[in-house]
Amino acid sequence: MSSFPISAYRRTKMLATLGPASTSLDVLRGFVLAGLSGVRLNFSHGTHADHRQTLNMLKTLQAEMGYPITILQDLQGPKIRLGEVEGVITLQAGKVFTLDDSDKPGDEERACLPHPQVLDALKVGDRVYINDGQVRLKVTSVDAHQAVCEVLAGGVISSRKGVNLPGVDLPFSALTDKDREDLAFGLENKVDWVALSFVQRPQDIREAREIIGDRAAIMAKIELPKAVERIEGIVEEADGIMIARGDLGVELPLEEVPAIQKKIIRICRDAGKPVVVATQMLESMIHNASPTRAEVSDVANAVYEGADCLMLSAETAAGAHPEAAVTTMASIIHRVEHSSALWPLLDARAPEVVAGTPDAISAAACYTAKMVNACAIVTFTEFGATALRLNRWRPEQPLLAVTPHAKTAQGLTFSWGLKTVVSEPPMDTDQLVEFALTAVKKSGLGNAGDTVVITAGIPFGKAGGTNLLRIAELP
Ligand code: PEP
Repeated sequence: MSSFPISAYRRTKMLATLGPASTSLDVLRGFVLAGLSGVRLNFSHGTHADHRQTLNMLKTLQAEMGYPITILQDLQGPKIRLGEVEGVITLQAGKVFTLDDSDKPGDEERACLPHPQVLDALKVGDRVYINDGQVRLKVTSVDAHQAVCEVLAGGVISSRKGVNLPGVDLPFSALTDKDREDLAFGLENKVDWVALSFVQRPQDIREAREIIGDRAAIMAKIELPKAVERIEGIVEEADGIMIARGDLGVELPLEEVPAIQKKIIRICRDAGKPVVVATQMLESMIHNASPTRAEVSDVANAVYEGADCLMLSAETAAGAHPEAAVTTMASIIHRVEHSSALWPLLDARAPEVVAGTPDAISAAACYTAKMVNACAIVTFTEFGATALRLNRWRPEQPLLAVTPHAKTAQGLTFSWGLKTVVSEPPMDTDQLVEFALTAVKKSGLGNAGDTVVITAGIPFGKAGGTNLLRIAELP
């Protein structure tokens, strides 16, 4: 791939999953230098000791770099798995296969489904998928101890393979006992974001919020059809959304996923909530040093759609070329953000105007920045709301959010276009202009004589009170 300036201002953020391929200081440093916005620690794998080691490495790197690296803790959630099976078993289409609550090892005729609530929830006609959807069953009769199924698509099963129940409303909360323990560990280690897996309903986020409070932001992973059906309510409750295309593509026909991705990006942009597009973005780079044409198009199209952030999974966690995967993604983003096709596409999907002063100021700031060809739009933000109102407009001019709170800055990490600066709050409007211009200069976004557009709320320190728009010149 072609080279690009490493310090380039990138609007579309990048998140990389860490794993055995990336938990070395050198590889992590390479990720950060390539412009990574944050890292995902996947609690479906590894022990607390493993994650503690990674967190210590990140602390060392943060001290070396002099700025924080945002950490997303991804909880495993209520992942359903098959019980123990004798070796590897092939199920034949057309045969009968029973899922039951017996703890005997499974064979060609039956296997244990060690989740009593699932057996209770299943109904005749429900589908049960095993092994990433390779084996497909249909429930033909069910009682409290077993679900008798017809094998619709045969294939191989073995112990602990993942089970998907597309469309079944499961009587679980998104937090298992393991998640609660992992969450306590994450909060103790001051993770910035917590991702909830297999969210089904807005209530799942409210339940997690009761434990998390304001200690971390919450990202809801959309990987179940029920979550897609309830997306508006989930977006309202969560601080961010991840389109988890891996499980989503098992639960729903694959051809449904692109339209769902577009719809969720649209809803999140309207709501001013960051949306992460995840899974198989550069999948072939797990083995190869360069991506396929289709993968390059997938990454590019997510940028054209206005996604806030793109995530790498096994490419950086377990691949042979983790750094190349990050620099490749960065190059594609850079290229699209410098293509003339991007801005009309983003403008065409402009969000609904929300009546009120903060949105009026935000829209006016973006319009003004275009009219005066500003080098940056600076927004002073207490808890991030003003910055998120601005970023909904996806302006071509770089966005700089200045906040007195490190927590606010970390919460804005995955949001499109927002570069953040932590600074004491200004005392008056003269100091506000001075701070804004200094932040632009320090961030390398402008030169002497360039115009800067500034928004803030007066009096300072009052959340949601954006009411000021200023134009200033860089000295
Ligand atoms: C996914 O399913 O796409 C996803 C991101 O979740 P996980 O990697 O935890 O399976």
